Amino acid sequence: MKRKSKVKTIQLLSLAFILIMTYGIYMHELVHHEIFRYYGCDSTITITPMGGLTTPDDSDPNCVYNENMIRLHAMNEIVTYNLEIIFFMLFVIAITIVVTASETTNEPNKTKSAQRNPNSHF
Ligand SMILES: [Zn+2]
Repeated sequence: MKRKSKVKTIQLLSLAFILIMTYGIYMHELVHHEIFRYYGCDSTITITPMGGLTTPDDSDPNCVYNENMIRLHAMNEIVTYNLEIIFFMLFVIAITIVVTASETTNEPNKTKSAQRNPNSHF
């Protein structure tokens, strides 16, 4: 693989990574939103460049904060952070495979030339 095409592949993988991470953040915030809604709270999802935020509407009189609601939010954090780490590791493995594959295809085949007998005529 040529250097230009290797850079382009890494750029495309990085763009895909950012898009998938943003989608993952949105899905995470959507779970927070659903937990708030389950307990009668209205909330607003905000996606920022490096993350997201779900803000409950504190003026909502139907909103009930209790221990179970807080546990559900904590479980959402635990599940998401563990899954995101797995996804990040898969991305690192994909980049490593692309870079390694491009380096091995650019190398001349040393084993064949080293084994070749210069006196042989075939
Ligand atoms: Zn969260």
